[in-house]
Amino acid sequence: MSKPKLATIWLDGCSGCHMSFLDMDELILEVAERADLVYGPLVDAKEFPEGVDVTLVEGAVGSSEDLRKVREVRERTRVLVAFGDCAVTGNVPSLRNPIGPRAVLETVYLEKPTHNAQIPSQLVPELLEEDLPVHAWVPVDVYLTGCPPSAARIYECVKRLLDGEAPETVSEAVAWKFG
Ligand code: SF4
Repeated sequence: MSKPKLATIWLDGCSGCHMSFLDMDELILEVAERADLVYGPLVDAKEFPEGVDVTLVEGAVGSSEDLRKVREVRERTRVLVAFGDCAVTGNVPSLRNPIGPRAVLETVYLEKPTHNAQIPSQLVPELLEEDLPVHAWVPVDVYLTGCPPSAARIYECVKRLLDGEAPETVSEAVAWKFG
């Protein structure tokens, strides 16, 4: 029998949630035995695959590219986990919301550089008006809070999902906050 497919993605976050995932240490081997890790910063895969059972989404949705990714991931994932406080509430990335994206770009690219100051027009994805939590754009099945969530709580969450548990309603998803 094939194993469940597990994926992780990194949107507008600091990678701390993925670092905490790695802090599971030897328990990662248990996860690897029970699931195929098919996509994420820890895997050399270019395309997000179809038919993923569980995806952990780190970070808020702050750019057009984040939004494209999270919509694609939602379409291809059965159980989507908002992974860490940036994904759950907006947290640190959402601090920019009161001043808007233009002020952020001007501060970073025009005021701070000592030479060649310019706002990039290529390769850098367009910032959205606000940096919002994942559930503002796509349905979320499980909320795994913490900045970052501890390795123990990540393991407990993933284990339960691989055991076949999953909240079936929004209120159950909220109850699955893991602390
Ligand atoms: S929740 Fe905390 S650790 Fe995770 S990406 Fe956001 S700031 Fe980083």
